[in-house]
Amino acid sequence: MRTINKLIVHCTAGNMNNSAQDIVNYHMKVLKWSRPGYHFFIDKDGNVTQLIPIDRISNGVKGHNADSINIVYAGGVDQETYKIPMDTRTPAQKVALRKLLTNLRSQFPRAKIYGHRDFANKSCPSFDAKTEYADI
Ligand SMILES: [Zn+2]
Repeated sequence: MRTINKLIVHCTAGNMNNSAQDIVNYHMKVLKWSRPGYHFFIDKDGNVTQLIPIDRISNGVKGHNADSINIVYAGGVDQETYKIPMDTRTPAQKVALRKLLTNLRSQFPRAKIYGHRDFANKSCPSFDAKTEYADI
């Protein structure tokens, strides 16, 4: 098993109604990646789908993928233009995110929780994950 030092939260920056399959299709069929860019996807109803095994490296944050687990929730932008960063997490997504991060922290106690924005000049995931999950 590779060493996991970071749990990094993302948003899809798209339609909050997107399914896990939509994201897989986008990454593999449109972007032609060899595998999906995130390990876990959380839909608007709080369903968590694992897209790739934890031991495989995903494509979440350039330069930080080797020791990270990338988690994404559907949404994170206004739902009219999909351009304005906005915390669109539903109550179910908030519950699921917290539960998933808690589980992953118990599996990887040395891993710290971040948002994509902590590594890049981006809004992703449209909220301050580091602060919100400081208690996990
Ligand atoms: Zn991101």
